[in-house]
Amino acid sequence: MTIEKLIEEIITKYNAYLESKKQKYPRQCFIASDISDCDRCLIYSVLNWQDRAEVDNYLIAILEAGKEYERKVIADLLNLGFEIIEGQTPFEIKNRQGEVICRGKIDGKIKYSGNKYPFEIKTMNINMFNLINDIEDFSKKPLFRKYLRQIQLYLYGHNCEEGLFIITDLQKHYKLIPVYLDYGECELILQRLEKCWEYVKKKELPQMINDTRICQKCAFNHLCLPDIKSEGSEFIEDDELLTMLERREELKKYVEEYEEIDEIVKERLKVLTKPAFVGDKFLVEVKKTIYTQLNVKLIPDEIKKQYEEKKERIQIIIKNLEKGGTK
Ligand code: SF4
Repeated sequence: MTIEKLIEEIITKYNAYLESKKQKYPRQCFIASDISDCDRCLIYSVLNWQDRAEVDNYLIAILEAGKEYERKVIADLLNLGFEIIEGQTPFEIKNRQGEVICRGKIDGKIKYSGNKYPFEIKTMNINMFNLINDIEDFSKKPLFRKYLRQIQLYLYGHNCEEGLFIITDLQKHYKLIPVYLDYGECELILQRLEKCWEYVKKKELPQMINDTRICQKCAFNHLCLPDIKSEGSEFIEDDELLTMLERREELKKYVEEYEEIDEIVKERLKVLTKPAFVGDKFLVEVKKTIYTQLNVKLIPDEIKKQYEEKKERIQIIIKNLEKGGTK
């Protein structure tokens, strides 16, 4: 019986430790590491910081492991003889009126050849790790796009032209991705921040975006929900429909996993120049076809306008209320 008691106590204490890491802190301005694709979400992050959906203990444990691993990466760099300076140095960005609208902290800078290179360490699971090979890959997912904005603001805030991402998979594998200050991109981010800051000051919100992939994972989607409800909702009593929605919910995680793995597998196999067997079960062929595509971006707007027509688009958004609107 003593061993059961010991296990129970370890679990209780570990869960209490994870719970203690869930504290929410007031935000006085935007945070460079949390600039979402959605302006409304960005504004919620300041105005409604206390309403952010809670993450579960499993995710907290992963985040804590990530932080621990980041310290290991820095220790590795030091052991390799590199000089790391300005760890966790804060910076702030002001608008034209001199108001602080964004703050951030860089992981550090590597001093090398008379220069200082800001770096940002990102730990991620092996599937995500395999998806990233160069800076363009950071445009693939909403979370990665946050990373891009974050590092551009770091470079801008520290007046540096170059920096790097250090990507790790928690298994001592690193990818080092160079990043160059992109003034055009920075200008767009700063314009967004300034515009959103005006909403914060007026305590107002812009329109919702229409992108279920982003809204599903948004930590504030339970706040957006009343907007939908206020349009007048009805209740559907249909057991069959309810059963299918529940089953759909169970299957959703497999679809995501399938899509992630499918992307990685195809990325690895696209280099094949002839059919190949993988084990004795899979035959892989890469077929290339040439097709003609109309590049609508090259057509002048006045020509495009002549052929515009209005069409109805139906979008069905299904939210799981039991998960506080989060995925
Ligand atoms: S639910 Fe969608 S529209 Fe609302 S804040 Fe989140 S991302 Fe933006």
